[in-house]
Amino acid sequence: HTRTAPLSTEKGSGPLAHNYSPLPVTIASGEGAWLTDVDGHRYLDFLAAYSAVNFGHGHPGLISVARDQLDTLTLTSRAFDNDRLRPFAAALTRLAGKDMMLPMNTGAEAVESGIKVARAWGYRVKGVPADQATIIVAAGNFHGRTTTIVGFSDDPEARDDFGPFAPGFRTVPYGDAEALAAAIDETTVAVLIEPIQGEAGVIVPPEGYLRAVRTVCTDANVLFIADEIQSGLGRTGETFACDLFGVVPDLYLLGKALGGGIVPVSAVVGSSDVLGVLQPGQHGSTFGGNPLAAAVGTAVVELLETGEYQARARELGSVLQERLQALVGHGLTAVRGAGLWAGADVDPALGSGRDIALAMLDEGILVKDTHGQTLRFAPPLVIELADLEWALDRLEAVLERA
Ligand code: PLP
Repeated sequence: HTRTAPLSTEKGSGPLAHNYSPLPVTIASGEGAWLTDVDGHRYLDFLAAYSAVNFGHGHPGLISVARDQLDTLTLTSRAFDNDRLRPFAAALTRLAGKDMMLPMNTGAEAVESGIKVARAWGYRVKGVPADQATIIVAAGNFHGRTTTIVGFSDDPEARDDFGPFAPGFRTVPYGDAEALAAAIDETTVAVLIEPIQGEAGVIVPPEGYLRAVRTVCTDANVLFIADEIQSGLGRTGETFACDLFGVVPDLYLLGKALGGGIVPVSAVVGSSDVLGVLQPGQHGSTFGGNPLAAAVGTAVVELLETGEYQARARELGSVLQERLQALVGHGLTAVRGAGLWAGADVDPALGSGRDIALAMLDEGILVKDTHGQTLRFAPPLVIELADLEWALDRLEAVLERA
């Protein structure tokens, strides 16, 4: 096909490739839930780097751990052990109620690692014939940007011109456990889903869905892999979004907030029956499990073990959800969410999600649109109630005026 859109329309992007279209603001510093731009204007952060900054910008405890580690040791590679990695593994597995973890860096790497582990488990434990493994995924998914992952996305923007793609994935509608059960056969090694879909617009599945997925997976001897990279680590008011629904997956995929907003840290966490299939030499990452990442990751787990952040997400989240619900019919057409995480669809009569995000920027609030009409709200969990209320007042005013 021929390309009609120009490759580059933004002026002044210079040497930076066009993989994002950021709002017109350049941030220079941050503290807690607040950011300051290069001209000294202050903004309330209502995105928290897609939930990677759950504990706020410059969290004093995390920064101090990172600083100490910077002064001590930052990288050995896994050719040698480092003294921070095993404590991190112990802390993270304790938090997740599992007994093994695999440290990586980015979210997409955790997803790729989960796929490799599930396939190896399928061949070595379940007995699936060589190279036949299938993994069930959900429509509307977002699991990252690598070629295998975009190959099972159904978003044309994510996929187009990036093929050919890896085989072995089947897509079923999100929220439909019967369709999922029907897609499973003897080649199926795993079901990979987001317990709440983030990029799709904070889509909360119907009551009973995740419990049904758990049952279907157990009955069919298929691994349930929960991508909690965006939903996990306090955001929804629980440590894991799966906790909201009372389910325990076989593998958790974690990232984003695990690095405390300081360094990329991701992990696959599960039982040794599954993760134990990996043998030395079969997987790796130069930076995965580095001492700086491990020190910060351990400190993140310690913050979550206090339960304070989950409680804040629950308490402040009920204010966020209630006030957004009250705007349905007054500029918003639908609101979904859990804890301090919400997707709100903007009435097209008022403009696009981006139009409203730009108006919010003028009011001093940073929010980002997703899929055209949807705004996603995910402030740092340290946000003050008064700031949250102020931002919601501003949103109300923006929608009234639009
Ligand atoms: N999985 C989910 C659910 C995500 O939301 C994201 C990022 O938005 C990823 C995976 C990919 O993470 P990363 O951008 O760190 O590769």
